[in-house]
Amino acid sequence: MIWIGNVLVSPGEAGVYGERTLDGYRVWDPYRSKLAALYALGGGVELESWMRVLYLGAANGTTVSHVADYVETVYAVEFAPRPMQDLLEVARRRKKIVPIMADASRPEDYAPLMESVDLVYQDVAQPNQVEIAERNLVFLKPGGWFILMLKTRSVDVRRDPAGVLEETLAALERRIEVAEARWLEPYHHDHAAIVCSRP
Ligand code: SAM
Repeated sequence: MIWIGNVLVSPGEAGVYGERTLDGYRVWDPYRSKLAALYALGGGVELESWMRVLYLGAANGTTVSHVADYVETVYAVEFAPRPMQDLLEVARRRKKIVPIMADASRPEDYAPLMESVDLVYQDVAQPNQVEIAERNLVFLKPGGWFILMLKTRSVDVRRDPAGVLEETLAALERRIEVAEARWLEPYHHDHAAIVCSRP
């Protein structure tokens, strides 16, 4: 990852969502992006220029655009029409992004558009986050990584966030190795990043 002092940046052309620039790089703000928060806290997976990434929950493409600055290809899945419009505009200017309008809980719908990937990144904020992750493991290469952003309040707003995290980790560990789990405080409340690796 590229740091200028203690500021995380990415090496693309600016002007995607009004982000600041620093010495010709795009500032990647941990308060706006959970993935940037994970890096700011010292965790995560190094993004490399040869990587292919499946991104679930692309929204309007802000974090997607930074990931695309680092890697070879990003397959960006989003099911809501409004953010999809913005994502299409971002993808028009960044050819590495393949926008896919689909429901991430139905990977069979976009399987024909996909190849195997080195990293799956999931940020869907849904009650069935673990089930969506499990279904998309089919695209992950052996030796690849899975980063799940867990919004505990989306699972159950009444439950203790630590309990939701514990239960999520137990469910994931039945399918994949969990390498790291950390809360994203102070950048994002009640969100945890879970980094998994596929042996
Ligand atoms: N990752 C984005 C970023 O950092 O810029 C923010 C993602 S936002 C928290 C969650 C997004 O996931 C929303 O845009 C929502 O429409 C999308 N989403 C939720 N469930 C989904 C599903 N089953 N399939 C595809 N997209 C989904």
